[in-house]
Amino acid sequence: MRQLEYKADWYGRELIKINRYFPSSKRCSNCGHVLEKLPLKIREWDCPECGSHHDRDINAGVNILAAGLAVSACGATVRPEGSKSWKAGATKQEAPKSDARESRAVS
Ligand SMILES: [Zn+2]
Repeated sequence: MRQLEYKADWYGRELIKINRYFPSSKRCSNCGHVLEKLPLKIREWDCPECGSHHDRDINAGVNILAAGLAVSACGATVRPEGSKSWKAGATKQEAPKSDARESRAVS
């Protein structure tokens, strides 16, 4: 986490933490369907809802990015309670609109 904060600062990027229990791997990044369980040994799966084929890690990455952008764009709360080093931009206080647009554009 410290490394990520350092690198985000270095590159002038916004770092957003999401809840560790966010179902990033078993949530279909296409339709939002959440599987009841997805054992670690399953590396690829097909969504029973929309039929999308997913690589576990790529699907998780898409979901995590979407969750982070949701926080960045509209202040959605996916952070764990009591998380202390919470970047100012992510709490959606005085963040100017142009900043948000800019950070998305370079994503
Ligand atoms: Zn799906």
